Amino acid sequence: MNDCLFCKIIKGEIPSDKVYEDELVYVFKDINPTAPVHLLVIPKQHISKLDEVTAENSGVIAHIYEVIARLAKELDLKDGFRVVTNCGESAGQSVFHIHFHLLAGRPLLWPAG
Ligand code: AMP
Ligand code: ZN
Repeated sequence: MNDCLFCKIIKGEIPSDKVYEDELVYVFKDINPTAPVHLLVIPKQHISKLDEVTAENSGVIAHIYEVIARLAKELDLKDGFRVVTNCGESAGQSVFHIHFHLLAGRPLLWPAG
């Protein structure tokens, strides 16, 4: 996926504010934060969107949640946080490399609009 923005960020071709990286995932600050903590957690493997998760590639999704749980402890998000994945344009997905928004640091209204 040569022209995928997030694949380029993983490769370092586009700069990002990296928070964490391992062999499977990359975590960086959202360029347009909607909360005091607004991170994007992405697999290094290109998966376009949530409905492309299968038995073959879901291991990385489980790993992403492990990383989120660890980051929440390290960042001391004990007042709560939210994880959001938009799937498809009408749900608000604008970058078609699956990503998990990690939001915290302010009251988060529910239900979301
Ligand atoms: P979504 O709308 O759910 O697809 O989320 C895409 C997110 O990527 C948005 O919150 C954008 O602010 C964020 N974003 C877009 N380009 C960049 C970038 N170059 N660096 C960091 N975050 C970005
Ligand atoms: Zn990609």
